[in-house]
Amino acid sequence: MKTRTWQTATVDSLVDETATVRTISLSVPDWAGHRAGQHLDVRLTAEDGYRAERSYSIASAPGEPVAITVERLDDGEVSPYLTEELRVGDEIEMRGPIGGYFVWEPAISGAGPLLLLAGGSGVVPLRAMLRHRSRVGSSVPVRLLYSARSWADVIYRSELARLGDGVQVIYTLTPEQPSGWTGYARRVDQAMIAEVAWPAAQAPLVYVCGPTSFVEAVATDLVALGYPAAQVKTERFGATGAP
Ligand SMILES: Cc1cc2nc3c(=O)[nH]c(=O)nc-3n(C[C@H](O)[C@H](O)[C@H](O)COP(=O)(O)OP(=O)(O)OC[C@H]3O[C@@H](n4cnc5c(N)ncnc54)[C@H](O)[C@@H]3O)c2cc1C
Repeated sequence: MKTRTWQTATVDSLVDETATVRTISLSVPDWAGHRAGQHLDVRLTAEDGYRAERSYSIASAPGEPVAITVERLDDGEVSPYLTEELRVGDEIEMRGPIGGYFVWEPAISGAGPLLLLAGGSGVVPLRAMLRHRSRVGSSVPVRLLYSARSWADVIYRSELARLGDGVQVIYTLTPEQPSGWTGYARRVDQAMIAEVAWPAAQAPLVYVCGPTSFVEAVATDLVALGYPAAQVKTERFGATGAP
């Protein structure tokens, strides 16, 4: 099966999103297409044969060239290489697309509102969903609550500012805010979700993505607010990353 087969992808372009985050666009010869919210695996092999494998959400919409957005963890094994060493024209091993649960398809998911909650680089698969929504001309109302460490750490900042009709982006910046900041300045909590989100009775479809601690805290808050667990989809990036 293609998703389970390792293949060689070539780096087409590199875009610095923030000081520590880079988007890598890939040319993949044998790509079966992907859905918004899926991920892929990257495998690096050292000269002595040592291998390291990591998962990365697909940042691009279905129909767009495959792209991932990687946050550098200074003491990490794989992300410093992907964000600092990799050059256009280099080849990397990857396999995918992977995952069928954390995906959003307007045709299947219906016209109900969409609530997206991101912690740090957890915004990556949600960006694929937002792009997909625009590309297919969906009018599903969307609210994205995005928690970042500071304004400078907001990934896709200019793209998120241009989303337009039907999409609201609400930021919470913690621990650092620019001077004059009037938005949220604390970790996402139940009160914040209640203010930002549609009431559970309106049955929004909810996607939560980010570091494991962020996802677990937010999912607990959502359930406490009465959102049915079946309406809440979560993706955990592990014990790494931002807020
Ligand atoms: C489905 C999925 C999608 C993901 N999507 C993205 C994405 O879109 N963008 C993104 O940036 N990341 C994403 N991730 C996270 C990504 O897979 C990596 O975990 C991340 O890039 C860190 O990898 P690394 O090799 O640089 O760090 P690692 O070497 O894995 O280290 C991570 C952290 O753990 C610590 N650590 C490592 N080993 C130990 C140890 N033995 N004891 C204690 N601490 C240790 C390190 O100090 C470091 O802080 C995703 C993860 C999943 C599961």
